[in-house]
Amino acid sequence: MAAVIDRVPPAASAKVRRIGFIGLGNMGARMAQRLLAAGQPMVVCDIVPDILAAFAAEGSAVAEQPAEVSAAAEIVFLSLPTPQSVRAVCLGPSGVIEGNATKIVVDLSTTGPRVAKELARHFADKGITFIDAPVSGGVVGAEAGTLSVMAAGDRQAFESIESLLRLLGRNVFYIGSVPGLGQSMKLVNNMLAATNALAAFETLVMGAKAGLDPQVMLDVINVSSGRNSATLDKVPQCVLSRTFPLRFATELLYKDVRLCTEEAEEAGSLLWLGQTVKQILAFAVAQGDGGKDYATIIQHFERWAGATVGAESAHPGTSR
Ligand code: NAD
Repeated sequence: MAAVIDRVPPAASAKVRRIGFIGLGNMGARMAQRLLAAGQPMVVCDIVPDILAAFAAEGSAVAEQPAEVSAAAEIVFLSLPTPQSVRAVCLGPSGVIEGNATKIVVDLSTTGPRVAKELARHFADKGITFIDAPVSGGVVGAEAGTLSVMAAGDRQAFESIESLLRLLGRNVFYIGSVPGLGQSMKLVNNMLAATNALAAFETLVMGAKAGLDPQVMLDVINVSSGRNSATLDKVPQCVLSRTFPLRFATELLYKDVRLCTEEAEEAGSLLWLGQTVKQILAFAVAQGDGGKDYATIIQHFERWAGATVGAESAHPGTSR
């Protein structure tokens, strides 16, 4: 656990709603920054001390344990990697559920509907409302406040935090009152995004191998029927430059796709393409690429073909 950098100060005024934020990673740090910049009194928590120091320097209080956050903040946001980490932070020792100040917990992570339903039940027993509000739009959207937010849970509680959600996202959707519906919406979106990205990767590599210029391919596709978020954003921003910046780890996308296939199986829905997408992501993780951005998956297709999409120009005729 991180060292305490600064004890949580008492709220300056009874009317001010202190915001807690737990999980300051690629997404969380940027979202918490936006809340802080809007003048919200904040208390933050993460297991990485360096991240905490940066927030303390900007005026945020820093807590050592999740329970310390919920003892100080009326509304607690979470942006954590996995369903397991969200469950542990909420219900584990010194978890959010132990603090007495919190009225609403908002989970911005992608965890799947099952953990959302379980947490909603546990928190309800303590008189706390749980809102699942997963987000889409990546680190660029998190920084710019242009995320999509898919919220579910008690409508009145949602309305009381809507102005905060609008600091994070341009498109805030109330999906419904049943806990977990926001998560189901997010899994549908991310399965589609992953499928689109892998389809874009393999076809762009095929085109490069055939001698097409990658930029020309994108220029054509992005005004034609093949365009998707990978051809519009991911490939131009992360692949063409061959920089592959870490924005969304492959292991996290694999987690989302796995959650989606599990939900589909349980519900009796068919995900033919989704199963293939899951296997490709599992392969990338097994190759040791779990911690790298999922844009690096294109390199597996490139190595096979002997052609690259981006600065190192295509090599038609290179055999495998
Ligand atoms: P990340 O791994 O960069 O950040 C997670 C943060 O949580 C880290 O700072 C980590 O130290 C912290 N953490 C882990 N366990 C903790 C604990 N027990 N107590 C306190 N802090 C803890 O992940 P990310 O990319 O920011 O994603 C966060 C969530 O948002 C995930 O559920 C992900 O699926 C989802 N998401 C990510 C993106 C993206 O583009 N990166 C987009 C939409 C949604």
